[in-house]
Amino acid sequence: MYVVEKVIRQYHKFSTHDTIIEYAMCLSCYEEIASELSEESMIKLSGYLEANVKFEKRRERLSSKEERDIGDWLSHCIVKGTAKKELEEFQIVGQFDGKHLLRHDFPFIIGFEAINEMNELLSNKTIDTLNGFRDKFLSPDPALDDLLKPKLLLL
Ligand SMILES: [Zn+2]
Repeated sequence: MYVVEKVIRQYHKFSTHDTIIEYAMCLSCYEEIASELSEESMIKLSGYLEANVKFEKRRERLSSKEERDIGDWLSHCIVKGTAKKELEEFQIVGQFDGKHLLRHDFPFIIGFEAINEMNELLSNKTIDTLNGFRDKFLSPDPALDDLLKPKLLLL
């Protein structure tokens, strides 16, 4: 099993979008990174999601749809409810088993307003760990560096 995360920026004026970051990570690497984050930050993050997202209701509502259209899972920011087309930038997260996309809490999109709120809950140490991961493994195009620096990856 593995997780795929993308950061997408939309340019409404030009009706186009860029994928700024895209990566896949197996669950054991994910757990390794998560174990390096401070417990306090993890508790705050999960508290934030618990308070703002009704995962169980969402899962029930979406799973009962006949066609199981994935578009319904990705149509709105999971925290703020903002329509995807209104978001300038968002992250999309999915979990896969082989080539099969799993449907439970994932997949979802989350807009940068919510990402920024989550960012503020994290300790500096946790932010450093996440940024270190980003710099080590994602080695983005230096031209994109300014765009990426302030970004928190969700996982
Ligand atoms: Zn791995």
